[in-house]
Amino acid sequence: MSDVRVRFAPSPTGFLHVGGARTALFNWLFARHAGGTFILRIEDTDIERTREEWVTGIQSTLRWLGLDWDEGPFRQSERAHLYAEAADKLVASGHAYREGGAVRFRPPAEGATTFTDVIRGDITVDNSTLEEFVIVRSTGHPTFYLANAVDDVDMGITHVIRGEDLLPSTARVLLVREALGTTEQPVFAHLPLLVGQDRQKLSKRHGDVALEDYRDKGYLAEALRNYLALLGWAPRDGREIVPIDDVVAEFRLEDVTKAAAFFDHQKLDHINGEYIRALPVATFVRESLPWLETDPPWPPENFDADVFDRMAPLVQERVKTLAEVPAMVDFLFLDEPVIDEKAWNKAMKPPAADVLDDAVAAYETTEWTSEALHGVTLAVAVGHGLKLAKAQAPIRVAVTGRTVGPPLFESLAVLGRQRVLDRLQAARARLAEQAAE
Ligand code: GLU
Repeated sequence: MSDVRVRFAPSPTGFLHVGGARTALFNWLFARHAGGTFILRIEDTDIERTREEWVTGIQSTLRWLGLDWDEGPFRQSERAHLYAEAADKLVASGHAYREGGAVRFRPPAEGATTFTDVIRGDITVDNSTLEEFVIVRSTGHPTFYLANAVDDVDMGITHVIRGEDLLPSTARVLLVREALGTTEQPVFAHLPLLVGQDRQKLSKRHGDVALEDYRDKGYLAEALRNYLALLGWAPRDGREIVPIDDVVAEFRLEDVTKAAAFFDHQKLDHINGEYIRALPVATFVRESLPWLETDPPWPPENFDADVFDRMAPLVQERVKTLAEVPAMVDFLFLDEPVIDEKAWNKAMKPPAADVLDDAVAAYETTEWTSEALHGVTLAVAVGHGLKLAKAQAPIRVAVTGRTVGPPLFESLAVLGRQRVLDRLQAARARLAEQAAE
């Protein structure tokens, strides 16, 4: 083990959000790259805003992302004696004074505080610009400045990697450390802000910000982790799909950018799609099952795992998230397809009725394989002077209800002759009704 010791120090006042997850990941990457120690420290001194469910939620989300920690979780709420001792010491040495129940820290009137930030260079803050600040609240609870300073010293933290929103607090925390007798400083790395499309700080307005929402929407942990690694960092050759071992090997804090990082949902979807396609089919099937079995749009007893197995490789090629899987295969398990009316209106223009009639005639007798279905449908298309895709459209909408989905002939083959014919005839009857109106 190297001497490198880093920590992720979330305040459990909400779900782990993408910014926090990126901070956790960069700490983890730095520690793993250096063969150092990654510590989890829960900064739960704000008892009013802390909830136990967030404390456990943050840990389970970190585990889901594969960010295992070597020490902790330490909880500041269990270390109150250390902060009380430190406060006493600061009062005794005159660096702080009591005011009612609170303790306030007096920054020196002169001099400057300088620290090194690997991403931003040396930063100097004039001590005279800092006002007095509270280190123990009147409730007796320590504030961030005190608890953070005491713990980073106590835990031997060598590198402080965290969001740039904490930059303004750095000088104050360093002054507290110094007043407590620690002149040695950790190296800092303040990670760039995450922004939405409008370049404003990432917030709920830009879509989901809680990591759990991404898990619940069918993103794979590996894909999300890969994407998070690219928020402010990139491998030197610029590739986007980077296996985690490579990220660990190539990660350098010096390569993290100062510029705000754009949280790009499209890029995330693209990366997630790539990871889904890279799964062994059996894994894809296993990962998809919860999406097919929980709250399905079809009568649950209709679900047939063997039928899904047959379609799975084709579906896997076409989805960006696991949440998209049910809509790709619902036509196989619904008693009747749910017709998308926009798709219907687009696909059922003349000569759709004639195409459907010819398809029915051809499908009654053809051999029931995707190759044979392809062949006879091509003949139907040619018969009407249509491109194959044009002739497929009314057939696809009649059978699946949609204009997009897995390849048509494989879908027909799996659905079976009788159900295909029934659906084509139902569509044909509806067209006749529409014509009569
Ligand atoms: N607890 C602080 C927060 O969640 C982070 C403290 C730190 O990383 O230094 O904002």
